Amino acid sequence: MTKTIQLKRDELSSNFSGKEKYDLIIIGSGLSGLSSGLIWLKNTHGKKTLIIEKNSYPGGYSTAYEKHGYVFETTQLFPDIIDILDYLEIDLNLKQYEGNFMRRIVVDGEHVDEYKIPTGAENFTKYLIEKFPDDAEKIRALMAYSVDMFKQVRKLKANSKLKDKLLIPFQAPKVVANLNRTYSGLLDKFDINNPKLREVMETFTSFSGVPSSRASSIMATGAMLSSMTRCFRPYGYFDEFPATMAQLFQQRGGEILFGSEVEKIVVENGQVAGVQLSGSSTPILAEKVITTVDPLVAMRKLVGEEHLPSSYVEKLDKIIMSTSSINVALGLDDEIDLQSMDLDYPYNVVSTGLGTAEKLFDGFLAGDNAFSTDCFHTAVICPSLTTGAKNTITIRCTPFAMNKWTEWRENDYNKYKAEKERWGDFFINIAEKYFIPGLSKHIVVKDISTPATYARYSGSPTGS
Ligand SMILES: Cc1cc2nc3c(=O)[nH]c(=O)nc-3n(C[C@H](O)[C@H](O)[C@H](O)COP(=O)(O)OP(=O)(O)OC[C@H]3O[C@@H](n4cnc5c(N)ncnc54)[C@H](O)[C@@H]3O)c2cc1C
Repeated sequence: MTKTIQLKRDELSSNFSGKEKYDLIIIGSGLSGLSSGLIWLKNTHGKKTLIIEKNSYPGGYSTAYEKHGYVFETTQLFPDIIDILDYLEIDLNLKQYEGNFMRRIVVDGEHVDEYKIPTGAENFTKYLIEKFPDDAEKIRALMAYSVDMFKQVRKLKANSKLKDKLLIPFQAPKVVANLNRTYSGLLDKFDINNPKLREVMETFTSFSGVPSSRASSIMATGAMLSSMTRCFRPYGYFDEFPATMAQLFQQRGGEILFGSEVEKIVVENGQVAGVQLSGSSTPILAEKVITTVDPLVAMRKLVGEEHLPSSYVEKLDKIIMSTSSINVALGLDDEIDLQSMDLDYPYNVVSTGLGTAEKLFDGFLAGDNAFSTDCFHTAVICPSLTTGAKNTITIRCTPFAMNKWTEWRENDYNKYKAEKERWGDFFINIAEKYFIPGLSKHIVVKDISTPATYARYSGSPTGS
């Protein structure tokens, strides 16, 4: 028996009271907006606080939706954020992944290597040494250094005073030493030259579509250790997380206005004065405004360059937005036995070997994508193994650039559909070949999101 579909996000509604002036307005009810709102309410008393969200539900990139009787999710795991959940008193029924963090397949022509990356830094170190005994000393040294650096990162204070800042070089020397180091620079420092070992280590940069030569060593180490320490997903659908936060925010006195888009951040005499909603001529006044939307849209369009110092505008010109993706969400029939296919990991990843992330990122920078049968990086996630709902899988493929996706969608829908189908089939074939034999015979519903889909839902013109 599969369970009935009830999305928590649909239980929420606006509680906007139309106050004359708010102490704080937050633009966007994604995870950043909701956590900012909850932290603010926890640390202030009786402040009038409003979140404005253009969609009719909270969550932004992190949500779930129903299509033809199947529930699809847009995200797949939480890294170790339990301290934050406890701090904000967010109570969620979470599944903690024990054992392995990732099943990883690396394809080199006809040769296929498979790795099961365990949770926990110690287990991972042991596992790597078993797989690459000739590199044991280098692995031990790299992992010990990484664990130490991560501990130092976690000790840093977000709101540090001058005294704290002066102590950073003594309390966090590894963080300081790595400020300008890339992850490939860190692997070089420990002489990690074995291409297969390097490919496994680079898992933690390539899963976000960034090659190790461009990823910060601190970020990559943080991603690796926080995901491997403890890793979770809800037993329910993924929208439960933001919906629970939104509910708490309202219960604690915050207001949310869903289905309204902020068109302008009102600036008077160099100070923020409130926001202007699309389709309304009266601004909503506020003492402070936090934006959690695409920073280029927020600064160029909502604030306006005329209100910004030229040095700041120059900085905006240098921002490269993160990569976008194609996601293939599939609803499958009851005949397929996903339980038996060893898929219950936060991530199942298949890619071609070392150098793939670089090539794919170059394709993204050139404004397109570089996926081919000889060059790919694809994740397969199987949420229904946890939720107990009808069989679903999601195939996530990054990096894709926006290219012409929005243009096709708006001006040549047949071309848009054809391209969607072409890439959908490409990734379904990969998932079928390496993870789910016979997959295409079991597809009942296919829902493909392109960079244009992400642009529409997020409000970010470059997608996700
Ligand atoms: C495919 C994909 C998979 C991912 N998987 C994971 C994962 O498994 N684990 C993980 O930790 N992270 C994952 N991430 C990243 C994570 O989802 C995001 O980092 C996070 O959700 C971002 O939250 P946010 O609040 O900063 O932004 P957003 O989620 O973008 O929220 C911004 C909100 O602002 C709203 N908005 C935009 N413009 C306006 C406007 N003008 N007026 C009013 N509202 C506006 C949007 O509708 C949106 O709700 C994934 C991201 C993607 C794209």
